[in-house]
Amino acid sequence: MRTVTDFFGSMVFNDQVMKERLPKEVYDSLQNTIQNGKHLDLSVANIVANAMKDWAIEKGATHYTHWFQPMTGITAEKHDSFISPKSNSTVIMEFSGKELVKGESDASSFPSGGLRATFEARGYTAWDPTSYAFIKDGALCIPTAFCSYGGEALDKKTPLLRSMEVLNKAAVKILHLFGNEDVTSVKATVGPEQEYFLVDKEMYNKRPDLVYTGRTLFGAKPPKGQELDDHYFGTIKPQIKSFMKDLDYELWSLGVFAKTEHNEAAPSQHELAPVFTTTNLATDHNQLTMELMQKLAKKHGLVCLLHEKPFDGVNGSGKHNNWSLSTNTGMNLFEPGETPSENAQFLLFLCAVIKAVDRYQDALRISVASAGNDHRLGANEAPPAIISIFLGEELTEILNAIENDEKVGSKEKEQMRVGVHILPKFPKDTSDRNRTSPFAFTGNKFEFRMLGSGASIADTNTALNTAVTQILNEFYEALVDAKDFNKALHDLIRKTIKDHKRIFFNGNGYDDAWIKEAEERGLSNLKSTPEALSHLLDEKNIELYTKNKVFSEKELRSRYEILLGSYSKVINIEALTMIDMAKKLIIPAVSKYTKDLLKTEKIKNELGVVTCYEKEIGNKLSELLCEAYKLTLELEEKRAEVHKLKGAYEKASAYESVVLETMNRLRAVVDEAESLTAREYWPMPDYGELLFGVR
Ligand code: ADP
Ligand code: MG
Repeated sequence: MRTVTDFFGSMVFNDQVMKERLPKEVYDSLQNTIQNGKHLDLSVANIVANAMKDWAIEKGATHYTHWFQPMTGITAEKHDSFISPKSNSTVIMEFSGKELVKGESDASSFPSGGLRATFEARGYTAWDPTSYAFIKDGALCIPTAFCSYGGEALDKKTPLLRSMEVLNKAAVKILHLFGNEDVTSVKATVGPEQEYFLVDKEMYNKRPDLVYTGRTLFGAKPPKGQELDDHYFGTIKPQIKSFMKDLDYELWSLGVFAKTEHNEAAPSQHELAPVFTTTNLATDHNQLTMELMQKLAKKHGLVCLLHEKPFDGVNGSGKHNNWSLSTNTGMNLFEPGETPSENAQFLLFLCAVIKAVDRYQDALRISVASAGNDHRLGANEAPPAIISIFLGEELTEILNAIENDEKVGSKEKEQMRVGVHILPKFPKDTSDRNRTSPFAFTGNKFEFRMLGSGASIADTNTALNTAVTQILNEFYEALVDAKDFNKALHDLIRKTIKDHKRIFFNGNGYDDAWIKEAEERGLSNLKSTPEALSHLLDEKNIELYTKNKVFSEKELRSRYEILLGSYSKVINIEALTMIDMAKKLIIPAVSKYTKDLLKTEKIKNELGVVTCYEKEIGNKLSELLCEAYKLTLELEEKRAEVHKLKGAYEKASAYESVVLETMNRLRAVVDEAESLTAREYWPMPDYGELLFGVR
């Protein structure tokens, strides 16, 4: 039997394969590109391409593709075969360095937000050698960045790589101030915990809302939801178990470090957590994970729902972005350490995150904004869209002591001086008690919990990396020429705590009182995607991204258009689906049931038999039908009006305040009708069946 170690990464052109298959000079030269971003010579690229091709063909591949992440958030690929005609009847298998390094694809159907005129529809894909090539479905996939003719980023990977690069530089500079001269690179590491739902495929196919929009647009609450908490970490059902086994196998073959799989809080909800890795790899791996989840579920008679809120009334799905910084020397910069110097360095990096999160609350909120995620943030049953940091009591106490020049705890004799004294130990296991915090320090990393389950993690990590870079650069300026380094450091840390402590919150983030308190503290609470996006082009944010060269202003403006545009499109499709379902499925079904009820009532009357149920329910349903019909017409009309609006923001905003609002009213009426309609008349699987239907 093949063991996991035998097949782990077997479909990846990884370091080991490169070492085995590339001549030493070529390998070294490629390493120089991977580690230090040095330009790759075409002659080297040719040899690498050839080795890749031979390896891929041995593994059964016939095609290659530049695999990239357009701004829509899904991954895109265009397959070319390796074949090249040799004579009239024979072919050879070819793949050149030029084809490896740069691809050209007709990009006119990918959103560019005005970055590219249609007459220059070409888009270029450029190999990202820091992420290994891999084989998927018989194609050699080459992870790439995707740019316009003019070099503007048309994807999510390019800005992410830029943000990693600037963060690297900023962090290394700071570490050198602390005397860590041996550190030559700092990378952000990420472990994204992925939540998802699995539902029965047959039932899924009977729900147009799930098919077209990924979420249920109607659905009365079932008698049982998640209130018993009996699903969380519960025994995994055999059908799910075999899906997870397949998923692990495929992910491991692709070198994805899938580690933990368990049931989540809601019925039918599950989670997969990988072992953390470098940000761009983690991003690629997360895209692959989502793709494989959807593909493999079908093989097991299931459908994987990655929507952030497939069902009202039960938990939605998110993605917890565990983020930290690590050096080439193996240091985790958010590990508090043992010596005064290590402690001081930890405190400085901690303060950089605190200041970054406080100053760029809106940029972080924007990075997780989507129509789907709006149901998880700031909506009726969801926690507020307020960003705050959980530090835990022990660490908060230390920061308070520094701020107020006090002693920490009763045992300490002297006031805490950063860089001079050793921090009192704070236990790690108490640091993650508060699961309601959107941004929690969890001992040696931060966990940002606002991401939606369906989104690429690239946006958030780009925002986080850039914000932290900006602050690290500011800190560097404040420290570089200091005569007394420790004093300057102490003052800087103290001032940062003073200025930004409003972002600390260890309490219950789901509590209504917090909304009021956060407002008093001046924290931002951007409830919807249009509202959040309206701040993307605030001067502060433009400056953040352009100064750090992560986005040009033109790129930012294009993203603003695309994000608002896709929000409007999502709501538009949802509204059309609702109208369609109401007219073609629901209203006719309820009408039929009402007719049968009233017919029975009539017969009973003729026979002189007592009736009550038929008339009462028949009446009530007739009323609801009228109401539902009127609201469907209203929705139709409003959708059409809003659809005609021009400006991206005006349109998205009207979809939210007008169309979505009408959709919610229609849903309420239909859900009430569902709860009164006999099961056999209801034209699709209900919540109970969807949520508890997998055996
Ligand atoms: P949980 O949140 O379920 O208690 P952990 O906190 O142990 O579990 O880990 C959750 C995720 O955090 C995992 O994906 C793990 O790989 C990731 N993680 C752990 N350490 C780091 C780190 N230094 N950088 C980034 N992610 C990390
Ligand atoms: Mg976690």
